[in-house]
Amino acid sequence: MFKAKAYSAAGATSPLAFKMIQRRDTTEHDVQIEILFCGVCHSDLHTVRNEWSSIMPTVYPCVPGHEIAGRVTKVGSAVTKFKPGDLAGVGCLVDSDHTCPSCKADLEQFCPNGTFTYNSPDKHLGGVTYGGYSDSIVVDERFVLRVPSNLNLAGVAPLHCAGITTYSPMRHWGVGKGKKVGVVGLGGLGHMGVKFAHALGAHVVVFTTSAGKKEDALRLGADEVVVSRNADEMKKHAGSIDFILDTIAADHDLNAYIHLLGRDGNLTLVGAPETPFAVGGFGLLFGRHSLSGSLIGGLAETQEMLDFCGSHNITADVEIIPIQKINEAYERMLKSDVKYRFSIDMASLKDK
Ligand SMILES: [Zn+2]
Ligand SMILES: [Zn+2]
Repeated sequence: MFKAKAYSAAGATSPLAFKMIQRRDTTEHDVQIEILFCGVCHSDLHTVRNEWSSIMPTVYPCVPGHEIAGRVTKVGSAVTKFKPGDLAGVGCLVDSDHTCPSCKADLEQFCPNGTFTYNSPDKHLGGVTYGGYSDSIVVDERFVLRVPSNLNLAGVAPLHCAGITTYSPMRHWGVGKGKKVGVVGLGGLGHMGVKFAHALGAHVVVFTTSAGKKEDALRLGADEVVVSRNADEMKKHAGSIDFILDTIAADHDLNAYIHLLGRDGNLTLVGAPETPFAVGGFGLLFGRHSLSGSLIGGLAETQEMLDFCGSHNITADVEIIPIQKINEAYERMLKSDVKYRFSIDMASLKDK
């Protein structure tokens, strides 16, 4: 084992603070990575504050972070995909059972025995896994991603969660040329959704509650922007959209969006409000509309997404922060006061 610098929370109401943690020595299939940037995801905050205690209670100390980008420093003897010096990324998963039907279908995110990057039982060291708010991590090479060298690394980090979360459902539901796509909400997830839908060749309509985001939505690749409170603007799109990506994690009316779907149109949720949705049956019956959800993506698709980003020059729009500003960043994230993702510069961890 070796020691790594990290930021961790000691309890649900404690701020994140500096702590030394243990990492395992690289076994034959492991890759050791020096973390250079780590994106800040809403899941980090939920976990740190134990807000998902009913499904995944938080074990403390908690080191969050699953949008990891860095450089390989060491590889195990059986590693074939990486060598020291390579750029590398890690997302929400660091292991799975490799034998279940989901794993066999390259959908490791649905593995019943998967290991999340943080707050999951750690098979190697006991306790729970520690995530990317740290200067290093050791991960099985099957869960390490190749990062295209032409991209800005601070903006690459969020692709490992926000990127794949929005890319995967678009691929699944056939977003491409000739399709009209709606993106609801323009935050960390939504802004990636706009970039991907645009790059995949679709006609992109952004739905937002704030008229102030119009300019930015167009800059990110939207063809049209609708202020969702404006009933007339909404009505113009009734029955016309092939696929809607709904990124809103707060309570909102789904029926208004289902109404915008064309025949066989689909609305996919990637956020999960606390209260259940009220969905009218007729809105689904007419037009054979469907409502579904999506959760990150498998390793192969995550690699495909990163390669797609490399060839289309796509990264997340980030505000780079030193790790010492992480608690402040959480408060700002709650107010949506970030365009559009915080990315922690781990060089700041060097002086503690
Ligand atoms: Zn995330
Ligand atoms: Zn599995």
